[in-house]
Amino acid sequence: MTLRLASSKIFGKLALAGALSAGLISADADAQQKQPSPGSAKAIFGSVSLPSQGPAQPIGFYAKGCMSGAVALPADGPTWQAMRLSRNRRWGNPAMIALLERLSRDAQQQAGWPGLLVGDIAQPRGGPMFNGHASHQVGLDADIWLTPMPSQRMSAQQREDLPFTTMLQKGKFLTVDPKIWTQSHAELLMLAASYPQVERIFVNPAIKKKMCDTWTGDRANLGKLRPEYGHDSHFHIRIKCPPGATACKPQAPVAAGDGCDKSLAWWFTKEPWAKPAPPKPGTPPPKPPREGQVSDLPKACAAVLDTPSVASVAAATYGGPSAASALTATPAAAPSVSDQGLPPTGPVPADKPMQ
Ligand SMILES: [Zn+2]
Repeated sequence: MTLRLASSKIFGKLALAGALSAGLISADADAQQKQPSPGSAKAIFGSVSLPSQGPAQPIGFYAKGCMSGAVALPADGPTWQAMRLSRNRRWGNPAMIALLERLSRDAQQQAGWPGLLVGDIAQPRGGPMFNGHASHQVGLDADIWLTPMPSQRMSAQQREDLPFTTMLQKGKFLTVDPKIWTQSHAELLMLAASYPQVERIFVNPAIKKKMCDTWTGDRANLGKLRPEYGHDSHFHIRIKCPPGATACKPQAPVAAGDGCDKSLAWWFTKEPWAKPAPPKPGTPPPKPPREGQVSDLPKACAAVLDTPSVASVAAATYGGPSAASALTATPAAAPSVSDQGLPPTGPVPADKPMQ
C-alpha cells in the first residue's frame, strides 16, 4: 500500500515534469491546434508568403496585430543561423532584425556564446499563427534557442531536424539541469536584457529562479526576465514599439525590481495547476471559442493584406540581396549536432504575453 502510494506520487511528479518539459501544458491551447479554420485570420496570414511593400510598421499589439514592410533575417550570418526555414517566420521589423544581428555578435564577444540559433520571429505580414505562439504578431518578438550555434553551417534539412534541448532536469519539478546549464547561458540572457529597447525576455520559471539564485553581476535588468511555462529550450525577446511607430500599441513596462519575489514563487505553487471548478448542474456546455477573423485585428491589417508584395525574399532581406545569399552556398557536409540521442522535436510552447 505504502509502496503503491509512493510510486503513484512519484509518477505524478514525473508526469507533470515531463509534460512541462515537453511544453504540452499550454497557456493557450488554441495556439496548439493543427490546422486553422478556412477564412480565419490565422489561415489568411499564414498563407501569405511575402511581406507588403512600403514602410515598416508594427500595427496593433504583440498578441493582436500585424505588420507592413517586414524584412527577413538572412538565413545565415557570421554569428547566427536561422532555424526551421520551412516555417517562413524569419520576418520582422528592421529594429528587431538589427537587434538580433547585434546580439549575435555581442554574444560571441562578451558571453562566450558561439552564435545564435534563431527560431520564429514572425510571418511575412505578421498576424496570428496557427501554431506555436499567441504573440509574435507585429514583428517585435523573436525566439532564440538555448542551444549554442554549432561551428558548421547546417543544411536546411538539419535545421528542420535538430531537436530542441530542454534546460530542465528530467523527472524533477521545474529544476534547471546543472549538467546542461552553463554560465554562458546566464550571460547570454543578461546581455539580451541589457539593451534598452528590450522590454521583456520570457524564460521558464525554473530558469528565472536559477538566475535569481545565482546571478552575481548587476541585477538592474533581471526584472526584464519574465517567468513563463515552456521557454525551457528557447527564450523569447520582446522589444518596445520603435520610435515613430504610431500604430504600435505598447505594453505596460515591467514592474520595478528583480522579480525574484512572490511573483516568481507563484509559478512553483499548486495554483497554476488547479482544475477549473466543475460547471453547476444544468448549465449548458460552454461554446467553443470563435476563431479570430481579420476583422478582429486593427483595421489597417486588412489593408496590409491587400498591399502588393515585395519582389522576392532576397529583395526584402535585411542587409540586401548579398546578405540573403552570403553563406548559404556552403552548407555543412556532415550532421553536426543532431546525433546526440535527444528526444524528438516537441511542440513550440505557447506564450502568455500579458505579464
Ligand atoms: Zn516566442
